[in-house]
Amino acid sequence: MLTAVKLEKTYRRHAVQVRVLNGLDLEVQTGEFLSIVGASGSGKSTLLHLIGTLDTPDTGRVLLDGKRIDNLPSRDRDRLRNRTFGYIFQFYHLLPELNAVDNVLMPAYIGHSVLTWWQTRRQWRRRAEELLELVGLKHRLKHRPRELSGGEMQRTAIARALLMDPRVLLADEPTGNLDTEAGSEIVRLLRDINHNKGVTIVMVTHNMEIVSATDRVVRMVGGVVTDDTPAPRQSFQPRLAAV
Ligand code: ADP
Ligand code: MG
Repeated sequence: MLTAVKLEKTYRRHAVQVRVLNGLDLEVQTGEFLSIVGASGSGKSTLLHLIGTLDTPDTGRVLLDGKRIDNLPSRDRDRLRNRTFGYIFQFYHLLPELNAVDNVLMPAYIGHSVLTWWQTRRQWRRRAEELLELVGLKHRLKHRPRELSGGEMQRTAIARALLMDPRVLLADEPTGNLDTEAGSEIVRLLRDINHNKGVTIVMVTHNMEIVSATDRVVRMVGGVVTDDTPAPRQSFQPRLAAV
């Protein structure tokens, strides 16, 4: 479904060049929950940004359903980022002045004209509330980020990532700022979403414990993927109904 072909990326800062991706190839299958592991600085975030068209490779290609997406005009990439991909980050990136529902609504607000938004806002609001219920935050709809725990903020970010019904979730160290218990709850939630909604998930992490919840693990070393092995699979029971 998603393919990275011979990706190369070098960052240039003044006279310093850092070659981060070195001809990296990767294939992500439809419906799989893939984890990408590797040392800090090994280029995991860079790879995720290229796959999600948040940044562009120096050379190489990114394909979605066999069609190139890395070189699309910016309007088309905006649309992909709004509709096809959902993004989850280590530090949540919630807007501090907005409550949970309004944070979740952001992609719909951004992705529509003023008129369409005005006409459909009630449906979107209902959907945002349903998604917050799905992630276990029915009792936190009006809370602002600073009134939420880390795990709750990440759940809000996951609900936001799901709002536009994306095909792919890209998660960059989603448990990196959480304690073990909250972290495993987040991975369990992602596993449920993958299972119940058929959403493909690519998750970057350096927490080897949580990769056991995923279908496959790839490791990055030296700017390429070095191994590609099935994760030891635990039995994660889906508990959530699909929305
Ligand atoms: P990881 O997510 O695996 O920790 P990153 O992809 O964030 O790794 O970064 C890989 C390397 O690229 C690091 O050495 C980092 O310092 C460097 N790097 C990342 N982003 C930039 C940037 N925008 N400008 C310059 N160097 C960067
Ligand atoms: Mg990173």
